Amino acid sequence: MKEPTAGQVRRREVARTWTSAGPFAAIHLACVFVVVFPPTVGLLGLAAAGYALRMWALTAGFHRYFAHRAFRTGRTFQLVLAIAGCTAMQQGPLWWASWHRRHHHATDAPGDPHSPRLDGFWHAHVGWIFDGKHDSHDGSNVRDLAAYPELRWLNRHANVPVAVYAAACLAIAGPAGVVWGFVVSTVALMQATFLVNSVAHVWGTRRFDTPDGSRNNAIVAILTFGEGWHNNHHRYMTSARQGLRWWEVDVTYYTLRALAWLGVVRDLRQPPLDRDRRRPRAALA
Ligand SMILES: [Zn+2]
Ligand SMILES: [Zn+2]
Repeated sequence: MKEPTAGQVRRREVARTWTSAGPFAAIHLACVFVVVFPPTVGLLGLAAAGYALRMWALTAGFHRYFAHRAFRTGRTFQLVLAIAGCTAMQQGPLWWASWHRRHHHATDAPGDPHSPRLDGFWHAHVGWIFDGKHDSHDGSNVRDLAAYPELRWLNRHANVPVAVYAAACLAIAGPAGVVWGFVVSTVALMQATFLVNSVAHVWGTRRFDTPDGSRNNAIVAILTFGEGWHNNHHRYMTSARQGLRWWEVDVTYYTLRALAWLGVVRDLRQPPLDRDRRRPRAALA
């Protein structure tokens, strides 16, 4: 077969970038419809509820459960977490967990899909999603998840929960409900999630001397229900708890504790503690 010319390769790259960036750009541009549908208390409440539910699904589900297996649950609740996480429009559980495990495997080093140290702040924040090479994932590091056919199906059809979620917003409040409950809420959700990959690797404090640039950032932690304690997380990545001191607010962990009490989840993994068992050890034995 004839080798493609440099022009053909470039045109293919541009097409691939637009395929990846298209839905992302479209939902950001659709925010202009807030001018047509001004906010009301009800619409703001819908946007906030959509943000909170889906942020929780990302942090407790896609991140702490699927990517890190930080706790255990039954197959039914596992499916609930997967469906809810898909509504955040960040692809499916296998894709999300695979790239995130890759991030932990080589944090801020070659192989990290989003590192401000390697490729700059904006690439870590959004640029890496525009890069067509991240459209699919290498399944070799998510075989544990791929063992479930329902998760494989959801990963291939991650847009189905997104469409159902948008339709629910339409049913609740009409087109204005779609603009606020879906468009605005999803964009806020995306941007807040991306702060963990960009800001929480650049600005904040470092309790642990990890080999990466991870930071603890209180503002990111508030917006992402506990994920901003990112230096803690890179130190103890399989811990269900990321806020390690009483003042490090970690809403995701509190809700997981409540769900454990109710028997929905179990075996929440914890960081190893000091001898007085009051604070996490600075180094693993
Ligand atoms: Zn990180
Ligand atoms: Zn992680």
